[in-house]
Amino acid sequence: MKAAVFYGPNNLKLENVEKPIISEEEILLNVKVSAICGTDVRIYQGKKTKGVRTPSIIGHELVGVIEEVGENIEDYFVGERIGVMPVIGCGKCYYCLNGRENVCANRTAIGYEFDGGFAEYVRIPSRAIKAGNLVKIPDHISYEKAVVAEPLACCLNGQRKANVKMGDVVVVIGGGPIGLMHVQLAKIAGASSVILSEPIEHRREKGLLVGANHAIDPNQVSLEELVLSETNGLGADVVVLAIGVPSIVNSSANLLKKGGTLNLFAGFTKGVLSEMDPNVVHYNEITINGSASLTRSDYHKALSLISSGQINIDAITTNGYTLDAVEQAILDVRDGKGMKAVITQ
Ligand SMILES: [Zn+2]
Ligand SMILES: [Zn+2]
Repeated sequence: MKAAVFYGPNNLKLENVEKPIISEEEILLNVKVSAICGTDVRIYQGKKTKGVRTPSIIGHELVGVIEEVGENIEDYFVGERIGVMPVIGCGKCYYCLNGRENVCANRTAIGYEFDGGFAEYVRIPSRAIKAGNLVKIPDHISYEKAVVAEPLACCLNGQRKANVKMGDVVVVIGGGPIGLMHVQLAKIAGASSVILSEPIEHRREKGLLVGANHAIDPNQVSLEELVLSETNGLGADVVVLAIGVPSIVNSSANLLKKGGTLNLFAGFTKGVLSEMDPNVVHYNEITINGSASLTRSDYHKALSLISSGQINIDAITTNGYTLDAVEQAILDVRDGKGMKAVITQ
């Protein structure tokens, strides 16, 4: 089968590799659509290494159709349309037992420890099947839309941590696909105003299209002044940092009103520190938290938001890539060309 094999930083090769053979406890999925995540870009650049094997097939945002089921599998059938939750919690560590399966101490994931979606076929390991990581996709949702369930689920986790409430003023920093999902989810959660900060013009336009009240270029307009004028001088209730730039963590915290919450949603380059004024946290009683990955419940919620048409997916995706063009798709995402690159096979 055809697969994009990752050999190390900046080294991804399209190759013919052996089609996976499944055991009686496993499922073989014919990948229909996969998508490029910001994390794939960081893996490609060598900025994210945890769980990444070389050589291996990466790609953790994938949907497909069941090609083969192992003899002992009872709940899934050939021909079913399936969305894959990539993170497999162990189910028994401290975190899994305390509602944080997304940060499981023994976490493995498809696209990391197990070969991922930038291939014609993916072997779904039995622990993923037993844990309920395969979700049937309703017939009326296209694969191209369903593939967004995984990143959208991650954003739902972030929104929960950011604690957006009705009437809140929310700032989203970064208008890539993730930022624009946060804009939409904040509006659904009841934000009275969402301010998007994004230097690329076409992304600002898309931000307004999906419901942002303001979309500004931070190099031209003072985000701080806009936030103050929108909030009677108080500051934002919530700031979501949807780009992994350590040097703006402090200024993001400064946008908050007292008691506000900053969610560090995007991952940062390993080992790069950021400078903080601890008095902003202390005197303003702000909360800074993070969010990593998704829970199974987030995935189900994401799929139902997509299914009910509440998320504008066309605005946040760029279609038309094929498996042969995975590397180009990663480079385009890196360069901010287009939005989430969706690969149809
Ligand atoms: Zn992802
Ligand atoms: Zn666990």
